[in-house]
Amino acid sequence: MGQTLTEKILDDHLVEGELETGEEIGIEIDQVLTQDTTGTLVWLQFEALGLDEVQTELAAQYCDHQTYQFDFKNTDDHRFLRSAAGTFGAYFSRPGNGICHNVHKENFAAPGKTLLGSDSHTPTPGGMGQLAIGSGGLDVAVAMGGGAYYIEMPEVVNVRLEGELPEWATAKDVILEMLRRLSVKGGVGKIFEYTGPGVETLTVPERTTITNMGTELGATSSVFPTDEKTRDFLERVGREDEYVEIGPDEDAEYDDQITIDLSELEPLIAEPSMPDNVVPVREVEGQDVEQVIVGSCTNGGYADILPAAKMLEGREVDMKTEMIVAPGSKQASEILARQGWSAEMMAAGVNFSEATCGACIGIGHVPASDSVSLRTFNRNFEGRSGIEDDNVYLCSPEVATAAAIKGEIVDPRDLADELGDMEAPGLELPDKFDGSKTDIIEPEEAVDDDLVKGPNIGDVPLKDELDADIEGEALLKMDDNITTDHIIPATQDILMYRSNIPKLSEFTLSRVDDTFADRALDADGGFLVAGENYGQGSSREHAALCPMYLGIEGVLAQSFARIHKANLFNFGIIPLSIDADDYEQIDQGDDIEIVDDVAEAVRSGQEEFTVRVNDDWELTATLDASEREREILADGGKLPHTKKQTEGS
Ligand code: SF4
Repeated sequence: MGQTLTEKILDDHLVEGELETGEEIGIEIDQVLTQDTTGTLVWLQFEALGLDEVQTELAAQYCDHQTYQFDFKNTDDHRFLRSAAGTFGAYFSRPGNGICHNVHKENFAAPGKTLLGSDSHTPTPGGMGQLAIGSGGLDVAVAMGGGAYYIEMPEVVNVRLEGELPEWATAKDVILEMLRRLSVKGGVGKIFEYTGPGVETLTVPERTTITNMGTELGATSSVFPTDEKTRDFLERVGREDEYVEIGPDEDAEYDDQITIDLSELEPLIAEPSMPDNVVPVREVEGQDVEQVIVGSCTNGGYADILPAAKMLEGREVDMKTEMIVAPGSKQASEILARQGWSAEMMAAGVNFSEATCGACIGIGHVPASDSVSLRTFNRNFEGRSGIEDDNVYLCSPEVATAAAIKGEIVDPRDLADELGDMEAPGLELPDKFDGSKTDIIEPEEAVDDDLVKGPNIGDVPLKDELDADIEGEALLKMDDNITTDHIIPATQDILMYRSNIPKLSEFTLSRVDDTFADRALDADGGFLVAGENYGQGSSREHAALCPMYLGIEGVLAQSFARIHKANLFNFGIIPLSIDADDYEQIDQGDDIEIVDDVAEAVRSGQEEFTVRVNDDWELTATLDASEREREILADGGKLPHTKKQTEGS
């Protein structure tokens, strides 16, 4: 039987296990990436593990999430990150050089390689045939030290693309269509592998828009085969020698198949406040729009911004709408500026922001209360824009720009009819992408050879081995789809404490209950209770580390998001699945006791645990964990576990 592309890459990197769906496998990692909000902890953990040199083929540290300098904290972090990259042997992309996924795609991503990144949109270069996976930072630290990355072998789902996109429909509409059909939970435990005649009609930037937002489906990764379009992209970025042809065998068998006829797609839009609230743009036409942002790691490349520039040529942004372009990389900004397109857009009324994550995580360009903001980003979770009563819609650059011109949501086809002289901009790539390398410090050119820690850089807290008895209060009961943004908000005023865990922990779950952190500390620990898909969203390990710091011992949830569940193991918090009826019966404030000898049960492979509630009734909770995850959990988390292994060897 032939292999899928996913199986081929995994097979090439397999160090443990077999490629059977659901089985745990260990794979070798070729490249790692980390960004500034997760990177400080990654390097502190790398140091705490006693490691002194990066062992992967390549490691890259980006500074993209927090680049505004309100005081010393972000600068301290960036200086620490530069010193860590220099000391341990990683590339360092300077603040303002661009968003990790865009800069990595332009400079390092390579077909057939594995990439592990401490950012949930790490799968972006899947559009170039790279198998890229997002994980918690501790997994990245261990992989950088030469350790394998462990994962349950996902289902491989074939997405067969037929036909060709019609005018005004874009790659963004392909992934919005996937979200419309499958929902934000539709990709959990899956890798989406795109094939079919429609693939060759899409350029690499279009493919990476699709693979970037595979994360919103909950997918482990998404991947395209390579072809002439991949070779062409690599030539333009000056890395043609890294091209390899790679794709599935003709007789490859998939776990499932989906077909999308590109020719039937039309402009789509995700309504507030979930990326899967997708409807045709024509269903929501006519709403006033106060803000439009084109950019981010999803649609912030040259090929994404140029259509907006072409649509705006000779036109103006409506007076009641503010339009911002947030490039994904400085390289994109520079080429647009050299070609005169930035001047065209400025003349039309556009403001430019630095090439950072910025508005995507509520840092700058916060929309006005209860106003409509159209963004080309990948997420529109409530409050992520920096204000609770936001109304953020997700769409393509074409739909966003049409709204900026008209001042209201409008299908660009209808606007084109109305204006009479607006052509569909299509997609173009620049001849050569050059420029951003000057903002990347290579390991050989490192300017630091020792770690520099300012006062905002603390130590990594450690947990003791799991106890035999675990009991405590159900400190918080939450609904379905609690995101890592709910657990640790990613706004500027909070994220600046990312390397200062005691301070950051004060904000834990504050968006759900602003008394939570105090109550958890007073109670000296306890449990969290949640519905389905607990911990969806980013790879932010602070969302497990801060609850651990506050003493949380376990989470009882109907289901868990993949990366967050791995992070709970990594920080010694027991993730127990419960059924819907038991979830309904538990109230916040109930006394919870795990009846079994927890440490012994976890180590021995016990799957079902008896949980006593209020000394009154009992439920059965399930621990779904591999042998390796059980050892990690029992040792108090991955850091003490890895140290124990290293010291024992
Ligand atoms: Fe940055 Fe937003 Fe992309 Fe995350 S999703 S990397 S915050 S632009």
